[in-house]
Amino acid sequence: VRVVIIGAGFGGLNAARELKGADVEVTLIDRNNFHTFAPLLYQVATSGLNAADVAHPVRGVFWKQPNVTFRNASVTGVDWEEQVVEVDDGDPVAFDGLIVAAGAGTNFFGVPGAAEHSLPLYSLADALALRNHLLARVEWAHAHPDEADVALTWVIVGGGPTGVEMAGALAELVQHVLRKDFPELDLDRRARIVLVELADRLLTPFVPKLSANARRALEKRSVEVRLDQQVESVAEDAVTLAGGERIPAHTVVWAAGVKASPLAEHLGLPLGPGGRIVVEPTLGVAGHPNVYAIGDVAVIPGEDGRPLPGVAQVAMQSGRHAARQLTRTFGRAGRPEPFHYKNKGIMATIGRRAAVAQFPNGFTLRGTLGWWSWLGLHLVYLIGFRNRLSVMVNWTWNYFTWDRGPRLILWTDRRRGRK
Ligand SMILES: Cc1cc2nc3c(=O)[nH]c(=O)nc-3n(C[C@H](O)[C@H](O)[C@H](O)COP(=O)(O)OP(=O)(O)OC[C@H]3O[C@@H](n4cnc5c(N)ncnc54)[C@H](O)[C@@H]3O)c2cc1C
Repeated sequence: VRVVIIGAGFGGLNAARELKGADVEVTLIDRNNFHTFAPLLYQVATSGLNAADVAHPVRGVFWKQPNVTFRNASVTGVDWEEQVVEVDDGDPVAFDGLIVAAGAGTNFFGVPGAAEHSLPLYSLADALALRNHLLARVEWAHAHPDEADVALTWVIVGGGPTGVEMAGALAELVQHVLRKDFPELDLDRRARIVLVELADRLLTPFVPKLSANARRALEKRSVEVRLDQQVESVAEDAVTLAGGERIPAHTVVWAAGVKASPLAEHLGLPLGPGGRIVVEPTLGVAGHPNVYAIGDVAVIPGEDGRPLPGVAQVAMQSGRHAARQLTRTFGRAGRPEPFHYKNKGIMATIGRRAAVAQFPNGFTLRGTLGWWSWLGLHLVYLIGFRNRLSVMVNWTWNYFTWDRGPRLILWTDRRRGRK
């Protein structure tokens, strides 16, 4: 029996691991030859971690699982008649069971100029592009001190966990590292980090007191938090808010939202909000008894009927569930069972000794305690011992020295760093 899994993210990887020892041949397909630990991408973007610390080669994950073959290709569609997955390079891949785990991509919500002029943070390539850009703008400011203010203004759009984490980490990079790298630039006075959020508070999935705590922690780090503000357009050198205010800036980080991976549109399956694949309570796709969609690419109904959030735990648990249902149906053990999500809580970090965490029983953590639990949890969930060790060494080094070694501009063409 052949099972194909599209995507080696949190969902796909867990689905493939769940099939260890099962009497199936698994082909895992991903356009990247590595798995990305997205929750730490913002640390790559702000020079806290190296790219290889948050990514792990997929082939290495399955050295000890001989029933998994990895295929490095982009999936372009599925031929439902022939039951094959079509890829951009090489032969199509036949399947008896299919798990779609292609994740999500950035949603610019049609805001004019956003796709062209802002920098998203969804993939490792995005994180590196953002790091190159951030650092290159400061070098540019150094070469053009009279025009520097626009290059030293960073606008982050979206006050969810990604935006908040990015703003906090950037503020610490500026205050503790770039200020020393560029003493002539007077960054204390000239650097400006603006976080723009549409809602009336940051971190809306959290209870209001944690939102308020996150806001205070950011303001303590000199981040300007702008709530109830909609971005109307983005240009090469400015962001315009709905009220007409124009914020001159060379750097706009887009952390405002996600939608399903563009692949979802090409599969001919039923789509729901955000272009996500609609699934039944079993995670199966109606009309396709051997097809499951999991993680960020799917609209997964929760116990209350509302869609579950696009977080790593949902992807991991849904991946394992879909894999089990395929083995049940192939093994004739019976009909697929409904998926029950076990909520383990949510967390976001603002900076050193500042994080918020909220658990399903209403228990909350913040400040230093929240931060230590955030650090511990992220280390536990990182894939690969080398990654854990490297992240731990980097964090310990950063903690004691405030230094950020990976602040390298890796453009081969210097002009690409320019606006
Ligand atoms: C910056 C950032 C920070 C986050 N922080 C947190 C956090 O702190 N906590 C948390 O719980 N969640 C966090 N999330 C959300 C979490 O990362 C996602 O919910 C999770 O990654 C979803 O897993 P997935 O397997 O559905 O998709 P992904 O992990 O995105 O994996 C999808 C995979 O599919 C591949 N793929 C896509 N299209 C194709 C194609 N056509 N062909 C081949 N391969 C394809 C991609 O390369 C990717 O490897 C964060 C996300 C981002 C972007």
